[in-house]
Amino acid sequence: MGGVLSREDQRKRVERSLMGKRSKARKGEVLGAAFRQRYGFKYTRNENGMAVGYAVNEDKMAVVLGIFEMLADGASIHQVQRRLEGHVPAPGGGEMWSRTTIRSIVEDDVYLPLAYDEVEPLVSAEIAARLDRDAEYGIWYYGRHTTRRKSHRTKARLVEKNPPEKWTAVPVNLSGSGLRRKVVERARQMLRDRPVREPATVGRFNELSGGLFYCGGCGKAMVPDRRRRKTGTAYLYYYRCETKHSRGKDACPLPRSYRAEVVESEVWDYISAVVTSPERLNAAFEREIERLRIANRDPGREMEAVTKRLTELAEERKRAQVLAVRGLLDPDDLAVQLGRITEDKVALEERLEACKGHNEHIAALEAYRDALFISYLFGGPGMHDPLQWPPEKRHALYKQIGLKVIADPEGGIRMEWSFVEDAEAGGVLDTTRS
Ligand SMILES: [Zn+2]
Repeated sequence: MGGVLSREDQRKRVERSLMGKRSKARKGEVLGAAFRQRYGFKYTRNENGMAVGYAVNEDKMAVVLGIFEMLADGASIHQVQRRLEGHVPAPGGGEMWSRTTIRSIVEDDVYLPLAYDEVEPLVSAEIAARLDRDAEYGIWYYGRHTTRRKSHRTKARLVEKNPPEKWTAVPVNLSGSGLRRKVVERARQMLRDRPVREPATVGRFNELSGGLFYCGGCGKAMVPDRRRRKTGTAYLYYYRCETKHSRGKDACPLPRSYRAEVVESEVWDYISAVVTSPERLNAAFEREIERLRIANRDPGREMEAVTKRLTELAEERKRAQVLAVRGLLDPDDLAVQLGRITEDKVALEERLEACKGHNEHIAALEAYRDALFISYLFGGPGMHDPLQWPPEKRHALYKQIGLKVIADPEGGIRMEWSFVEDAEAGGVLDTTRS
């Protein structure tokens, strides 16, 4: 059948291209396509303009060198970031050097100078013969990961790690880089030995963490933190803007950190006034569920229509293939038709998933409402008393009702809650801190 053939063809093409790449790596050449060159290097090219190797890019390699030296001297990644930002563009072109970028440079064997004797067993005799016995080499690996397309439409990819025996080592001459084995190894060791900071969540449940509390200055989620005056004294708990913390105080206009207890009780005062009254809560849930239904124009009916169209597409595909087998449709036209059908199918399947998602969201809200009412009935007086709601339960409630708390750069917080529209309860509440 045409469809089967064309898929087989496609698979072969991918295989051939992979074989080409692997044989290129086996010849000791780096690959120029698809990926950016490693930071600190530039491509060397053959007479056809194809990338075949790496040579040191001195300006960028000086940055790499600086990173290794700072870390080897005991600097933290954070200090390295602060030194680079605003002075040197990150490898991706942006201004911010991420921790991941710095870490991956430090761990990348392309920057670790190896002597000839160490490189020789990693490569074929043919490549070893071309190596300069007095030079030092980093290793660029081909085939550490395999990527697969996850979806045709979104271009999402799945990345899988390959076992080391599948890697192909390509030596990269490090002459002129200034990299020294000892410094690189020391920087790696320092990074591995560095104690991992105890997360600020220790000792306390932060009920506004996890996508509830946002910075009104930069839009990032607020992060819980704790501080104490000196060792031995009790911790004070805060929420702070991560942008301001990691990029410096000018990076975000938010004035200060927020005392956790203060913000949390402001939020709870407001929300508990509604949720400890079954009548008000029920009305709020009803309104929200109705709003979702209207916004999604009856997902049940749409699901039906989408499912029907999917069945039709399967029929169309079969018809096209039958025509091709009878010689009534030429192979190129068949390929075009099958391609279009596949695209439509993927789009419809995604729509179907979205409908299911909306349905599930509504069902989850209904189930949560019912569970709340059961606990109103059987949970004793605790449910009606705001002081008896533990932080975990408040957090779960906030997530369910889609609460959003925003730290205002002018001071105070704002709350947005789609459930409550009437002015009396205040869909949006501003509080101003002294
Ligand atoms: Zn901010």
